[in-house]
Amino acid sequence: MNIEDKNYIRNHIKIYNSLTGKKELFQPINKKYVGIYVCGPTVYHDIHLGNCRTFISFDLVFRYFKHLGYKVRYVRNITDVGHLENERDDGEDKISKKSRIEGLEPMEIVQKYTISFHKILNIFNTLPPSIEPTATGHIIEQIDIIQELIKKKLAYEKNGSVYFDIKKYNKKFSSYGKLSHNKIDKLFNQKLKNNSSVVVEKRCFQDFSLWKRANDNHIMNWNSPWGKGFPGWHIECTTMSTKYLGEIFDIHGGGIDLKFPHHECELAQAIGIYENKNLAHYWMHTNMLTFNGKKMSKSTGNFLGLKDIIIYNKSFHPTIIRFFILQSHYRSLLNFSYQGLINAEKGYYRLMNAIEKLKHFSTKEKTKTNHYYSSTFNIIQWIKDCYNAINDDFNIPLLISFLFKASHIVNNSSSVINNMGCSDINLWNKYMNHFIFDILGLQTLSLEKNSSYETSKKFKVLIERLIKFRIEERKRRNWILSDRIRKELSHVGISLHDDKLC
Ligand code: AMP
Ligand code: ZN
Repeated sequence: MNIEDKNYIRNHIKIYNSLTGKKELFQPINKKYVGIYVCGPTVYHDIHLGNCRTFISFDLVFRYFKHLGYKVRYVRNITDVGHLENERDDGEDKISKKSRIEGLEPMEIVQKYTISFHKILNIFNTLPPSIEPTATGHIIEQIDIIQELIKKKLAYEKNGSVYFDIKKYNKKFSSYGKLSHNKIDKLFNQKLKNNSSVVVEKRCFQDFSLWKRANDNHIMNWNSPWGKGFPGWHIECTTMSTKYLGEIFDIHGGGIDLKFPHHECELAQAIGIYENKNLAHYWMHTNMLTFNGKKMSKSTGNFLGLKDIIIYNKSFHPTIIRFFILQSHYRSLLNFSYQGLINAEKGYYRLMNAIEKLKHFSTKEKTKTNHYYSSTFNIIQWIKDCYNAINDDFNIPLLISFLFKASHIVNNSSSVINNMGCSDINLWNKYMNHFIFDILGLQTLSLEKNSSYETSKKFKVLIERLIKFRIEERKRRNWILSDRIRKELSHVGISLHDDKLC
Protein backbone atom coordinates (compact mmCIF):
# COMPACT_ATOMS: atom_id res chain seq x y z
CA MET A 1 0.00 0.00 0.00
CA ASN A 2 1.46 3.30 -1.09
CA ILE A 3 0.03 5.76 1.38
CA GLU A 4 0.17 8.61 -1.11
CA ASP A 5 -1.82 6.50 -3.58
CA LYS A 6 -5.34 7.50 -2.68
CA ASN A 7 -6.71 5.10 -5.32
CA TYR A 8 -5.52 2.15 -3.32
CA ILE A 9 -7.12 3.49 -0.15
CA ARG A 10 -10.32 4.28 -2.04
CA ASN A 11 -10.53 0.71 -3.29
CA HIS A 12 -10.52 -0.74 0.21
CA ILE A 13 -13.35 1.08 1.96
CA LYS A 14 -15.91 -1.16 3.60
CA ILE A 15 -19.31 0.06 4.72
CA TYR A 16 -21.90 -1.73 6.80
CA ASN A 17 -24.96 -1.81 4.61
CA SER A 18 -28.20 -1.87 6.63
CA LEU A 19 -29.96 -3.25 3.58
CA THR A 20 -27.97 -6.48 3.52
CA GLY A 21 -26.81 -6.52 7.15
CA LYS A 22 -23.21 -6.96 5.97
CA LYS A 23 -20.02 -4.97 5.64
CA GLU A 24 -19.47 -4.49 1.92
CA LEU A 25 -16.71 -3.15 -0.27
CA PHE A 26 -17.61 0.38 -1.30
CA GLN A 27 -17.82 0.71 -5.07
CA PRO A 28 -19.21 4.04 -6.25
CA ILE A 29 -21.49 4.10 -9.26
CA ASN A 30 -19.18 6.57 -11.01
CA LYS A 31 -15.50 6.09 -10.35
CA LYS A 32 -14.64 9.62 -9.31
CA TYR A 33 -17.93 10.66 -7.73
CA VAL A 34 -19.82 9.86 -4.56
CA GLY A 35 -23.48 10.77 -4.07
CA ILE A 36 -24.80 10.91 -0.51
CA TYR A 37 -28.29 11.70 0.69
CA VAL A 38 -28.97 12.25 4.39
CA CYS A 39 -32.42 12.97 5.80
CA GLY A 40 -32.27 16.44 7.28
CA PRO A 41 -34.20 17.89 10.21
CA THR A 42 -37.84 18.78 10.49
CA VAL A 43 -37.44 22.45 11.25
CA TYR A 44 -40.00 23.00 14.00
CA HIS A 45 -37.59 23.21 16.95
CA ASP A 46 -33.91 23.69 17.73
CA ILE A 47 -32.08 20.47 17.05
CA HIS A 48 -30.81 18.61 20.11
CA LEU A 49 -27.48 16.92 20.70
CA GLY A 50 -28.86 13.58 19.49
CA ASN A 51 -29.63 15.09 16.09
CA CYS A 52 -26.13 16.62 16.13
CA ARG A 53 -24.61 13.16 16.59
CA THR A 54 -26.18 11.97 13.34
CA PHE A 55 -25.17 15.06 11.37
CA ILE A 56 -21.63 15.04 12.78
CA SER A 57 -21.28 11.34 11.86
CA PHE A 58 -22.25 12.01 8.26
CA ASP A 59 -20.06 15.10 8.19
CA LEU A 60 -17.15 12.76 8.87
CA VAL A 61 -18.22 10.48 6.00
CA PHE A 62 -18.45 13.52 3.71
CA ARG A 63 -15.03 14.77 4.84
CA TYR A 64 -13.40 11.38 4.33
CA PHE A 65 -14.59 10.95 0.77
CA LYS A 66 -13.47 14.50 0.00
CA HIS A 67 -10.10 13.82 1.60
CA LEU A 68 -9.67 10.82 -0.70
CA GLY A 69 -10.17 13.07 -3.70
CA TYR A 70 -13.71 12.10 -4.67
CA LYS A 71 -16.07 14.69 -6.05
CA VAL A 72 -18.82 14.37 -3.45
CA ARG A 73 -22.36 15.57 -3.86
CA TYR A 74 -23.83 15.60 -0.38
CA VAL A 75 -27.56 16.31 -0.34
CA ARG A 76 -29.24 16.93 3.01
CA ASN A 77 -32.82 18.10 2.90
CA ILE A 78 -34.86 20.40 5.07
CA THR A 79 -38.29 18.99 5.96
CA ASP A 80 -40.48 22.05 6.09
CA VAL A 81 -43.86 20.41 5.56
CA GLY A 82 -45.54 17.01 5.78
CA HIS A 83 -43.95 15.50 8.90
CA LEU A 84 -46.97 14.59 11.02
CA GLU A 85 -47.07 14.16 14.75
CA ASN A 86 -48.30 10.62 14.40
CA GLU A 87 -46.58 8.04 12.18
CA ARG A 88 -50.03 6.71 11.25
CA ASP A 89 -51.03 9.70 9.14
CA ASP A 90 -53.63 11.13 11.46
CA GLY A 91 -51.64 13.65 13.48
CA GLU A 92 -51.15 17.36 12.96
CA ASP A 93 -48.29 18.66 10.79
CA LYS A 94 -45.44 19.43 13.21
CA ILE A 95 -44.72 22.80 11.62
CA SER A 96 -48.36 23.87 11.49
CA LYS A 97 -48.75 22.93 15.13
CA LYS A 98 -45.69 24.92 16.15
CA SER A 99 -46.88 27.93 14.16
CA ARG A 100 -50.11 27.82 16.14
CA ILE A 101 -48.25 27.55 19.45
CA GLU A 102 -45.74 30.31 18.71
CA GLY A 103 -48.24 32.53 16.90
CA LEU A 104 -46.08 32.72 13.79
CA GLU A 105 -46.59 31.94 10.11
CA PRO A 106 -45.45 28.39 9.29
CA MET A 107 -42.75 29.85 7.05
CA GLU A 108 -41.56 32.01 9.94
CA ILE A 109 -41.18 28.83 11.98
CA VAL A 110 -39.28 27.21 9.12
CA GLN A 111 -36.99 30.21 8.73
CA LYS A 112 -36.34 30.52 12.45
CA TYR A 113 -35.40 26.89 12.99
CA THR A 114 -33.48 26.51 9.74
CA ILE A 115 -31.25 29.39 10.82
CA SER A 116 -30.88 27.83 14.25
CA PHE A 117 -30.05 24.44 12.68
CA HIS A 118 -27.25 25.98 10.60
CA LYS A 119 -25.93 27.91 13.58
CA ILE A 120 -25.75 24.82 15.79
CA LEU A 121 -24.09 22.65 13.16
CA ASN A 122 -21.68 25.44 12.41
CA ILE A 123 -20.46 25.57 16.02
CA PHE A 124 -19.65 21.87 15.68
CA ASN A 125 -17.61 22.62 12.56
CA THR A 126 -19.70 20.55 10.19
CA LEU A 127 -19.33 21.42 6.51
CA PRO A 128 -22.41 22.64 4.67
CA PRO A 129 -23.87 20.04 2.30
CA SER A 130 -23.53 20.52 -1.46
CA ILE A 131 -27.30 20.91 -1.84
CA GLU A 132 -29.90 21.58 0.85
CA PRO A 133 -33.29 21.22 -0.85
CA THR A 134 -36.55 21.99 0.91
CA ALA A 135 -39.73 19.97 0.61
CA THR A 136 -41.85 23.06 -0.10
CA GLY A 137 -39.49 23.96 -2.95
CA HIS A 138 -40.27 20.64 -4.68
CA ILE A 139 -44.05 20.37 -4.63
CA ILE A 140 -44.38 20.07 -8.41
CA GLU A 141 -41.81 17.26 -8.57
CA GLN A 142 -43.59 15.43 -5.73
CA ILE A 143 -46.95 15.70 -7.49
CA ASP A 144 -45.35 14.29 -10.67
CA ILE A 145 -44.00 11.27 -8.81
CA ILE A 146 -47.31 10.65 -7.06
CA GLN A 147 -49.10 10.75 -10.43
CA GLU A 148 -46.59 8.25 -11.76
CA LEU A 149 -47.32 5.92 -8.83
CA ILE A 150 -51.08 6.23 -9.44
CA LYS A 151 -50.51 5.40 -13.13
CA LYS A 152 -48.61 2.30 -12.08
CA LYS A 153 -51.54 1.39 -9.82
CA LEU A 154 -49.33 1.53 -6.76
CA ALA A 155 -51.25 4.44 -5.26
CA TYR A 156 -54.90 5.44 -4.98
CA GLU A 157 -56.82 8.60 -4.22
CA LYS A 158 -59.41 8.78 -1.45
CA ASN A 159 -61.29 11.94 -0.46
CA GLY A 160 -58.50 14.23 -1.72
CA SER A 161 -55.65 12.26 -0.13
CA VAL A 162 -53.42 9.81 -1.99
CA TYR A 163 -52.12 6.63 -0.37
CA PHE A 164 -49.40 4.20 -1.33
CA ASP A 165 -50.93 0.76 -1.82
CA ILE A 166 -48.66 -1.59 0.09
CA LYS A 167 -50.49 -4.80 -0.83
CA LYS A 168 -50.33 -4.05 -4.58
CA TYR A 169 -46.71 -2.99 -4.26
CA ASN A 170 -45.83 -6.13 -2.42
CA LYS A 171 -47.62 -8.32 -4.92
CA LYS A 172 -45.48 -6.85 -7.68
CA PHE A 173 -42.12 -6.49 -5.91
CA SER A 174 -42.51 -8.46 -2.66
CA SER A 175 -40.04 -6.17 -1.02
CA TYR A 176 -41.83 -4.06 1.61
CA GLY A 177 -39.81 -4.70 4.76
CA LYS A 178 -36.54 -5.45 2.94
CA LEU A 179 -34.68 -2.60 4.64
CA SER A 180 -36.08 -2.75 8.15
CA HIS A 181 -36.33 -6.56 7.98
CA ASN A 182 -39.89 -6.34 9.18
CA LYS A 183 -41.88 -9.43 8.38
CA ILE A 184 -44.64 -8.32 6.08
CA ASP A 185 -47.22 -10.78 7.45
CA LYS A 186 -46.66 -9.44 10.92
CA LEU A 187 -47.13 -5.88 9.67
CA PHE A 188 -50.37 -6.75 7.91
CA ASN A 189 -51.72 -8.57 10.93
CA GLN A 190 -51.36 -5.55 13.17
CA LYS A 191 -54.71 -4.63 14.62
CA LEU A 192 -56.04 -1.17 13.95
CA LYS A 193 -55.06 0.93 16.92
CA ASN A 194 -57.79 3.44 16.34
CA ASN A 195 -60.69 4.09 14.06
CA SER A 196 -59.85 7.60 12.97
CA SER A 197 -61.26 8.61 9.59
CA VAL A 198 -57.78 8.47 8.05
CA VAL A 199 -57.19 4.90 9.12
CA VAL A 200 -60.66 3.90 7.93
CA GLU A 201 -60.25 5.46 4.45
CA LYS A 202 -57.07 3.51 3.73
CA ARG A 203 -57.36 0.15 1.97
CA CYS A 204 -54.84 -1.31 4.37
CA PHE A 205 -53.61 -0.13 7.74
CA GLN A 206 -49.99 -0.06 6.50
CA ASP A 207 -50.72 2.15 3.46
CA PHE A 208 -49.09 5.53 3.93
CA SER A 209 -50.00 8.93 2.61
CA LEU A 210 -48.26 10.45 -0.38
CA TRP A 211 -50.54 13.47 -0.45
CA LYS A 212 -52.80 14.75 2.35
CA ARG A 213 -55.91 16.79 1.74
CA ALA A 214 -55.79 20.06 3.68
CA ASN A 215 -58.50 20.95 6.13
CA ASP A 216 -59.90 24.48 5.94
CA ASN A 217 -57.67 25.65 8.79
CA HIS A 218 -54.50 24.14 7.33
CA ILE A 219 -52.46 27.12 6.09
CA MET A 220 -49.74 25.10 4.34
CA ASN A 221 -51.48 23.80 1.25
CA TRP A 222 -50.94 23.63 -2.49
CA ASN A 223 -53.18 22.95 -5.50
CA SER A 224 -52.94 19.46 -6.85
CA PRO A 225 -54.92 17.17 -9.18
CA TRP A 226 -56.63 15.89 -5.99
CA GLY A 227 -57.53 19.31 -4.55
CA LYS A 228 -55.75 21.42 -1.97
CA GLY A 229 -53.29 19.55 0.17
CA PHE A 230 -49.67 18.93 1.07
CA PRO A 231 -47.12 16.14 0.48
CA GLY A 232 -46.37 13.26 2.82
CA TRP A 233 -43.01 13.13 4.58
CA HIS A 234 -41.67 10.01 2.83
CA ILE A 235 -42.31 11.19 -0.72
CA GLU A 236 -40.26 14.33 -0.08
CA CYS A 237 -37.06 12.40 0.41
CA THR A 238 -37.55 10.05 -2.56
CA THR A 239 -38.25 13.06 -4.75
CA MET A 240 -35.34 15.21 -3.63
CA SER A 241 -32.74 12.45 -3.44
CA THR A 242 -33.46 11.17 -6.95
CA LYS A 243 -33.77 14.65 -8.40
CA TYR A 244 -30.23 15.57 -7.36
CA LEU A 245 -28.48 12.20 -7.26
CA GLY A 246 -30.27 10.09 -9.88
CA GLU A 247 -32.62 7.10 -9.74
CA ILE A 248 -29.98 5.17 -7.87
CA PHE A 249 -27.11 6.67 -5.94
CA ASP A 250 -24.32 5.60 -3.62
CA ILE A 251 -25.20 6.25 0.03
CA HIS A 252 -28.43 6.97 1.86
CA GLY A 253 -28.09 7.94 5.52
CA GLY A 254 -29.98 8.90 8.62
CA GLY A 255 -30.52 7.92 12.23
CA ILE A 256 -31.57 4.36 12.96
CA ASP A 257 -34.94 5.59 14.23
CA LEU A 258 -35.78 6.58 10.65
CA LYS A 259 -35.21 3.09 9.27
CA PHE A 260 -38.86 2.22 9.75
CA PRO A 261 -41.22 3.45 8.53
CA HIS A 262 -39.56 6.48 6.90
CA HIS A 263 -36.71 4.82 5.00
CA GLU A 264 -38.70 1.68 4.24
CA CYS A 265 -41.35 3.88 2.63
CA GLU A 266 -38.78 6.01 0.75
CA LEU A 267 -37.35 2.79 -0.64
CA ALA A 268 -40.75 1.33 -1.58
CA GLN A 269 -41.69 4.49 -3.48
CA ALA A 270 -38.40 4.45 -5.38
CA ILE A 271 -38.67 0.76 -6.25
CA GLY A 272 -42.26 1.36 -7.32
CA ILE A 273 -41.29 4.12 -9.72
CA TYR A 274 -37.86 3.04 -10.96
CA GLU A 275 -38.39 -0.74 -10.60
CA ASN A 276 -35.96 -3.14 -9.00
CA LYS A 277 -33.50 -0.65 -7.64
CA ASN A 278 -32.55 -0.08 -4.04
CA LEU A 279 -32.61 3.71 -4.28
CA ALA A 280 -29.09 3.69 -2.79
CA HIS A 281 -26.44 0.97 -2.94
CA TYR A 282 -25.46 1.50 0.71
CA TRP A 283 -27.87 2.40 3.49
CA MET A 284 -26.09 3.74 6.57
CA HIS A 285 -27.78 4.25 9.93
CA THR A 286 -26.30 6.00 12.92
CA ASN A 287 -27.20 4.78 16.38
CA MET A 288 -28.82 6.98 18.98
CA LEU A 289 -27.33 9.36 21.49
CA THR A 290 -28.91 8.59 24.83
CA PHE A 291 -29.26 10.70 27.93
CA ASN A 292 -29.73 9.11 31.34
CA GLY A 293 -29.79 5.80 29.43
CA LYS A 294 -32.78 6.71 27.25
CA LYS A 295 -32.94 7.92 23.65
CA MET A 296 -32.49 11.66 23.39
CA SER A 297 -35.75 12.79 21.94
CA LYS A 298 -37.67 16.00 21.65
CA SER A 299 -41.05 14.32 22.05
CA THR A 300 -40.26 12.70 25.42
CA GLY A 301 -38.50 15.79 26.75
CA ASN A 302 -35.34 13.74 27.38
CA PHE A 303 -32.91 15.86 25.44
CA LEU A 304 -30.18 18.45 25.62
CA GLY A 305 -31.16 21.37 23.42
CA LEU A 306 -29.73 24.67 22.38
CA LYS A 307 -29.76 26.13 25.90
CA ASP A 308 -27.85 23.17 27.29
CA ILE A 309 -25.48 23.14 24.32
CA ILE A 310 -24.66 26.75 25.12
CA ILE A 311 -24.11 25.88 28.79
CA TYR A 312 -21.80 23.07 27.76
CA ASN A 313 -20.02 25.19 25.23
CA LYS A 314 -19.14 27.59 28.00
CA SER A 315 -17.33 24.82 29.80
CA PHE A 316 -16.36 22.54 26.93
CA HIS A 317 -15.51 23.93 23.55
CA PRO A 318 -17.85 22.48 20.86
CA THR A 319 -14.87 20.69 19.37
CA ILE A 320 -14.64 18.65 22.61
CA ILE A 321 -18.30 17.69 22.28
CA ARG A 322 -17.62 16.73 18.65
CA PHE A 323 -14.62 14.65 19.76
CA PHE A 324 -16.72 13.00 22.47
CA ILE A 325 -19.32 12.04 19.85
CA LEU A 326 -16.73 10.69 17.42
CA GLN A 327 -15.03 8.57 20.06
CA SER A 328 -17.71 5.94 19.82
CA HIS A 329 -18.56 4.03 16.66
CA TYR A 330 -21.47 5.51 14.73
CA ARG A 331 -23.37 2.20 14.97
CA SER A 332 -23.07 1.97 18.77
CA LEU A 333 -25.32 3.58 21.32
CA LEU A 334 -23.64 6.49 23.07
CA ASN A 335 -24.73 7.84 26.42
CA PHE A 336 -24.08 11.52 27.00
CA SER A 337 -22.31 12.23 30.27
CA TYR A 338 -20.34 14.97 31.92
CA GLN A 339 -17.59 12.50 32.77
CA GLY A 340 -17.45 11.50 29.10
CA LEU A 341 -16.83 15.13 28.16
CA ILE A 342 -14.08 15.47 30.77
CA ASN A 343 -12.37 12.38 29.34
CA ALA A 344 -12.79 13.64 25.80
CA GLU A 345 -11.23 16.94 26.81
CA LYS A 346 -8.21 15.22 28.33
CA GLY A 347 -7.79 13.10 25.20
CA TYR A 348 -8.16 16.12 22.98
CA TYR A 349 -5.33 17.99 24.75
CA ARG A 350 -3.08 14.95 24.47
CA LEU A 351 -3.58 15.08 20.72
CA MET A 352 -3.04 18.84 20.62
CA ASN A 353 0.18 18.62 22.62
CA ALA A 354 1.47 16.05 20.17
CA ILE A 355 0.47 18.23 17.21
CA GLU A 356 2.33 21.20 18.73
CA LYS A 357 5.45 19.13 19.39
CA LEU A 358 5.47 17.59 15.93
CA LYS A 359 5.13 21.05 14.41
CA HIS A 360 8.06 22.18 16.49
CA PHE A 361 10.20 19.17 15.52
CA SER A 362 9.32 19.40 11.85
CA THR A 363 10.58 22.99 11.66
CA LYS A 364 13.84 22.19 13.46
CA GLU A 365 17.01 21.77 11.37
CA LYS A 366 17.91 18.11 11.15
CA THR A 367 20.75 16.37 9.47
CA LYS A 368 19.09 13.02 9.01
CA THR A 369 16.86 12.57 5.98
CA ASN A 370 14.39 9.98 4.68
CA HIS A 371 14.46 7.16 7.17
CA TYR A 372 10.92 5.96 7.09
CA TYR A 373 11.79 2.61 8.62
CA SER A 374 14.80 3.58 10.70
CA SER A 375 13.16 4.45 13.99
CA THR A 376 11.37 2.19 16.43
CA PHE A 377 8.14 3.79 15.28
CA ASN A 378 7.15 2.80 11.77
CA ILE A 379 5.37 5.83 10.41
CA ILE A 380 4.27 4.24 7.17
CA GLN A 381 2.70 1.36 9.05
CA TRP A 382 1.01 3.80 11.41
CA ILE A 383 -0.51 5.74 8.50
CA LYS A 384 -1.73 2.48 6.97
CA ASP A 385 -3.25 1.44 10.29
CA CYS A 386 -5.10 4.74 10.50
CA TYR A 387 -6.51 4.44 6.98
CA ASN A 388 -7.41 0.80 7.54
CA ALA A 389 -9.34 1.79 10.65
CA ILE A 390 -11.40 4.39 8.79
CA ASN A 391 -11.84 2.05 5.84
CA ASP A 392 -13.29 -0.56 8.15
CA ASP A 393 -16.78 0.95 8.25
CA PHE A 394 -15.53 4.24 9.69
CA ASN A 395 -14.02 2.71 12.79
CA ILE A 396 -13.18 6.08 14.30
CA PRO A 397 -12.61 4.75 17.86
CA LEU A 398 -9.84 2.59 16.39
CA LEU A 399 -8.43 5.52 14.42
CA ILE A 400 -8.40 7.58 17.63
CA SER A 401 -6.56 4.80 19.47
CA PHE A 402 -3.82 5.00 16.78
CA LEU A 403 -3.74 8.78 17.15
CA PHE A 404 -3.31 8.35 20.91
CA LYS A 405 -0.55 5.81 20.36
CA ALA A 406 1.32 8.28 18.15
CA SER A 407 0.68 11.14 20.59
CA HIS A 408 2.02 9.06 23.45
CA ILE A 409 5.30 8.59 21.59
CA VAL A 410 5.55 12.25 20.64
CA ASN A 411 4.68 13.44 24.15
CA ASN A 412 6.86 10.98 26.06
CA SER A 413 9.69 9.59 23.92
CA SER A 414 11.72 12.40 22.47
CA SER A 415 14.50 9.89 21.79
CA VAL A 416 12.33 8.23 19.15
CA ILE A 417 11.83 11.57 17.43
CA ASN A 418 15.46 12.55 17.77
CA ASN A 419 16.38 9.43 15.86
CA MET A 420 14.15 10.31 12.97
CA GLY A 421 14.92 12.11 9.75
CA CYS A 422 13.12 15.25 8.59
CA SER A 423 11.01 13.43 6.04
CA ASP A 424 9.73 11.02 8.64
CA ILE A 425 8.70 13.81 10.97
CA ASN A 426 7.20 15.92 8.21
CA LEU A 427 5.20 12.97 7.01
CA TRP A 428 4.04 12.19 10.51
CA ASN A 429 3.09 15.81 11.07
CA LYS A 430 1.24 15.95 7.77
CA TYR A 431 -0.86 12.87 8.49
CA MET A 432 -1.60 13.76 12.11
CA ASN A 433 -3.03 16.99 10.73
CA HIS A 434 -4.98 15.18 8.00
CA PHE A 435 -6.59 12.78 10.44
CA ILE A 436 -7.28 15.22 13.26
CA PHE A 437 -8.35 18.32 11.40
CA ASP A 438 -9.42 17.36 7.86
CA ILE A 439 -11.17 14.09 8.67
CA LEU A 440 -12.24 14.27 12.31
CA GLY A 441 -12.98 17.94 11.79
CA LEU A 442 -11.55 19.03 15.16
CA GLN A 443 -10.44 22.61 15.69
CA THR A 444 -7.45 24.07 17.49
CA LEU A 445 -8.08 26.04 20.66
CA SER A 446 -5.95 28.77 21.98
CA LEU A 447 -6.29 28.13 25.69
CA GLU A 448 -4.74 31.23 27.11
CA LYS A 449 -6.85 33.57 25.01
CA ASN A 450 -10.04 31.64 25.36
CA SER A 451 -12.07 33.46 27.97
CA SER A 452 -14.84 30.88 27.87
CA TYR A 453 -12.27 28.32 28.94
CA GLU A 454 -11.71 30.37 32.09
CA THR A 455 -15.44 30.30 32.67
CA SER A 456 -15.24 26.61 32.01
CA LYS A 457 -12.67 26.05 34.73
CA LYS A 458 -14.81 27.97 37.18
CA PHE A 459 -17.89 26.05 36.08
CA LYS A 460 -16.16 22.74 36.70
CA VAL A 461 -14.95 23.83 40.12
CA LEU A 462 -18.48 24.95 40.92
CA ILE A 463 -19.92 21.58 39.89
CA GLU A 464 -17.33 19.71 41.95
CA ARG A 465 -18.12 21.87 45.00
CA LEU A 466 -21.81 21.29 44.53
CA ILE A 467 -21.27 17.54 44.40
CA LYS A 468 -19.17 17.68 47.60
CA PHE A 469 -21.80 19.81 49.29
CA ARG A 470 -24.44 17.26 48.33
CA ILE A 471 -22.41 14.41 49.82
CA GLU A 472 -22.28 16.31 53.10
CA GLU A 473 -26.02 16.92 52.98
CA ARG A 474 -26.64 13.23 52.37
CA LYS A 475 -24.55 12.40 55.40
CA ARG A 476 -26.82 14.73 57.33
CA ARG A 477 -29.72 12.79 55.80
CA ASN A 478 -31.05 15.89 54.13
CA TRP A 479 -32.71 13.88 51.35
CA ILE A 480 -34.92 16.65 49.96
CA LEU A 481 -32.02 18.96 49.27
CA SER A 482 -29.71 16.24 47.98
CA ASP A 483 -32.38 14.89 45.65
CA ARG A 484 -33.06 18.37 44.37
CA ILE A 485 -29.37 18.94 43.63
CA ARG A 486 -29.17 15.63 41.81
CA LYS A 487 -32.21 16.54 39.71
CA GLU A 488 -30.80 19.96 38.86
CA LEU A 489 -27.47 18.46 37.84
CA SER A 490 -29.20 15.87 35.69
CA HIS A 491 -30.68 18.73 33.65
CA VAL A 492 -27.17 19.68 32.56
CA GLY A 493 -26.17 16.11 31.83
CA ILE A 494 -24.46 15.26 35.11
CA SER A 495 -25.89 12.06 36.46
CA LEU A 496 -24.91 10.99 39.95
CA HIS A 497 -25.03 7.43 41.20
CA ASP A 498 -25.00 7.14 44.97
CA ASP A 499 -23.25 4.45 46.94
CA LYS A 500 -24.78 3.35 50.23
CA LEU A 501 -23.99 5.68 53.08
CA CYS A 502 -21.62 4.13 55.63
P1 AMP B 1 -35.70 14.68 12.93
O1 AMP B 1 -35.65 16.16 12.78
O2 AMP B 1 -36.46 14.23 14.13
O3 AMP B 1 -36.18 14.00 11.67
O4 AMP B 1 -34.20 14.17 13.20
C1 AMP B 1 -33.10 14.54 12.40
C2 AMP B 1 -32.05 13.44 12.43
O5 AMP B 1 -31.57 13.22 13.77
C3 AMP B 1 -32.58 12.08 11.95
O6 AMP B 1 -31.61 11.47 11.13
C4 AMP B 1 -32.76 11.30 13.22
O7 AMP B 1 -32.63 9.93 13.01
C5 AMP B 1 -31.61 11.83 14.06
N1 AMP B 1 -31.82 11.64 15.51
C6 AMP B 1 -32.94 11.89 16.24
N2 AMP B 1 -32.74 11.60 17.56
C7 AMP B 1 -31.47 11.15 17.67
C8 AMP B 1 -30.66 10.67 18.76
N3 AMP B 1 -31.11 10.63 20.01
N4 AMP B 1 -29.39 10.28 18.48
C9 AMP B 1 -28.90 10.32 17.21
N5 AMP B 1 -29.61 10.77 16.14
C10 AMP B 1 -30.87 11.17 16.35
ZN1 ZN C 1 -35.84 11.15 4.60
